[in-house]
Amino acid sequence: MKRVKVVVVGAGVIGFSTAVCIAESLSLCAVTLVADQFSPDTTSDGAAGIMFVSKYPDIDLERQRRWFKDSFDHLLAIAQSDQAPEAGVMLSSGCQIFREVPAETVPFWADLVHGFRFLTESELKRFPEHCFGQAFTTIKCECSAYLPWLEKRFRRAGGKVQQSHVNHLQELAGTYDLIVNCSGLGARSLVGDQQVHPVRGQVLKVQAPWINHFIRDGDGLTYFYPGVHSLTVGGTRQEGDRRLEADPADSEDILRRCCLLEPSLAKGKVLGEWVGLRPGRRNPRVEREVLGTQGSARRVHVVHNYGHGGGGVTLAWGTALDALGLVKQIVNETGPPQARL
Ligand SMILES: Cc1cc2nc3c(=O)[nH]c(=O)nc-3n(C[C@H](O)[C@H](O)[C@H](O)COP(=O)(O)OP(=O)(O)OC[C@H]3O[C@@H](n4cnc5c(N)ncnc54)[C@H](O)[C@@H]3O)c2cc1C
Repeated sequence: MKRVKVVVVGAGVIGFSTAVCIAESLSLCAVTLVADQFSPDTTSDGAAGIMFVSKYPDIDLERQRRWFKDSFDHLLAIAQSDQAPEAGVMLSSGCQIFREVPAETVPFWADLVHGFRFLTESELKRFPEHCFGQAFTTIKCECSAYLPWLEKRFRRAGGKVQQSHVNHLQELAGTYDLIVNCSGLGARSLVGDQQVHPVRGQVLKVQAPWINHFIRDGDGLTYFYPGVHSLTVGGTRQEGDRRLEADPADSEDILRRCCLLEPSLAKGKVLGEWVGLRPGRRNPRVEREVLGTQGSARRVHVVHNYGHGGGGVTLAWGTALDALGLVKQIVNETGPPQARL
């Protein structure tokens, strides 16, 4: 019998990853996922979904490496299984190039992806504006396929899904024993976290099947990543900008920048434009907290897992496993003896 009622708020890649981890690992928990937006309308849906990430400033590097490794291993197993096309997960090879040699030539995830090496001088000749580059094979996870795939997996594990807006976490306290907050940018109003802010990103989907390697400028602004059905061509990173409509001037600039790296892109067919708001934060928040509920002595435990900025697809599974660990701790400390895990 399920004794501990858990609610996960958020149906993006963080919410569904966390909900699956809890539902599959803790058979004593009845898990419900609540969100106001589901695929294809979340930020996660349009993300390029390529696995690499910048370092977060205040989080222990070993913890960041674990988040990356756990996520990479999880997605690699999918990429190498018969589930790969349905889940939208594939291996992807290419390079990251720099106009100046970066302070860290070997990023913290270099030994966790496959075949990391520096570009040779002859490879760099193609990019006259750039003087340094890294080649590697990583993973691309397309959330427009991956989210529905995760939702099926969640339902198979007994999870329930409900579409509704949550005004305050406290309103869930009457129904649930434990709340897991994976609301991304929504955390700004849901828990009043003013550190979370929108970072607007615009990309184009382009049909150019002859391009099968990714190229990313090290400044993170200009990139193209081949995917299962099209090439994701980007991008922008506009801090504090909440506009959700595509800006034609941005699209023109994106194509101009990318064509400088790959002239044949000019022959590609633009299939569409997409805008998303990254849940920017100095560091992701993966921690537990106790909330008092208004007008009652009841306190409710919350596990937060939000604020992944431009690295949410990359770190989703790893941070979900951390959130699962916190849920286990809380159930062990507070649950009835029969519910101890
Ligand atoms: C252009 C672009 C390219 C990107 N490329 C990459 C990439 O290559 N690699 C990478 O790792 N990351 C990338 N990202 C970043 C990635 O998209 C995010 O880090 C990730 O999607 C965050 O996931 P999330 O689940 O936290 O948020 P979301 O996907 O935004 O999901 C949040 C969920 O919470 C729900 N919610 C919020 N508030 C409430 C509320 N009050 N009540 C009910 N429900 C609520 C929403 O409805 C939604 O379901 C990119 C982002 C953009 C915009």
